[in-house]
Amino acid sequence: MRNITVLSGGIGGARFLQGLLHGLTTGALPGIDAGAEVTVVANTADDLWVHGLKVCPDLDTVMYTLGDGIDPERGWGRREETWSVRTELAEYGVEPTWFGLGDRDVATHLVRTQMLDAGFSLSQVTEALCRRWLAPTWGDRVRLLPMSDDRIETHVAIADAEAPSGRRVVHFQEYWVRLRAQVPAEALVFVGLDRSAPAAGVIDAITDADLVVLPPSNPVVSIGTILGVPRVREALAATTAPVVGLSPIVGGTHVRGMAEQVLTAIGVEVSAAGVGLHYGSRAEGGILDGWLIDERDADQVPRLTGAGIACEAVPLMMTDHDATAAMARAAVRLVEGGSGR
Ligand code: GDP
Ligand code: CA
Repeated sequence: MRNITVLSGGIGGARFLQGLLHGLTTGALPGIDAGAEVTVVANTADDLWVHGLKVCPDLDTVMYTLGDGIDPERGWGRREETWSVRTELAEYGVEPTWFGLGDRDVATHLVRTQMLDAGFSLSQVTEALCRRWLAPTWGDRVRLLPMSDDRIETHVAIADAEAPSGRRVVHFQEYWVRLRAQVPAEALVFVGLDRSAPAAGVIDAITDADLVVLPPSNPVVSIGTILGVPRVREALAATTAPVVGLSPIVGGTHVRGMAEQVLTAIGVEVSAAGVGLHYGSRAEGGILDGWLIDERDADQVPRLTGAGIACEAVPLMMTDHDATAAMARAAVRLVEGGSGR
């Protein structure tokens, strides 16, 4: 296998990619060519405009993580960050105060916003930013593509007794960062998604892949949105590459984040099997050939295999690069020998 395409959110996707690339460079992935190329299609439905700047949290998490610029404890933003800009903005009383832009991070958003203002597409901007973050380490081997150049935003409906409708809709970032996903999500709205177009290279990356991987990213607000970009599902259905995913749900809940809340909002069972069955078997109109679940969910394997999805239970905690590379190895092994198509 030479061409690997990964559909990624932020932290979960980025950590998986770190392990996958570690496995590639240490020869720990039998079945994958040593010179294999990785294309990352990243979610952009978390993106927001804040203080006049275009911020793309998932693109930046992947870029900083693979470029060794990430803050390893937080898992997002720049390492050795300082927060003078945030403090100064707060002194002016400017909203939103809940979304803190780090001083180093601001430079990325300034470059991005200026380039967008000058007429470049988000894909072109991302490519330019990656010349700093990915090219020095990875050369042409790793490409990062936004799922779309169009503006797409996930919004969350929450209960609000004071609103006439009894509900209020907030941007996903406000739900996650300000409200910490502590209020129930009643519904999700993906503004702009159904009339978006895939960014240049996205459909080809799926169609021409030898392997497509769904890392343990959020199935609703990360991978779900990528799948919602017109033509992406069709490309997954048509590709000759096997499609394999790894469960972000372990032991009945997410490892971090808010997958439990957003799965509940769309009526999907919060379990490793629930997510796998939600994606569905490719043979029956879904997208998966294989689904890895954590060993503590091993009793759910028959539910997947019974639905026509190859399934194995293995350790799925991304504790370090070796453990994560072992997850990538298990994913390759599960679907080796083809997609069954
Ligand atoms: P986000 O955009 O930053 O929220 O990141 P992603 O969507 O890429 O990934 C979030 C998902 O990663 C969450 O649903 C977590 O449950 C999952 N996740 C984080 N760490 C781990 C891990 O070590 N193992 C597994 N299986 N899932 C994880
Ligand atoms: Ca995200």
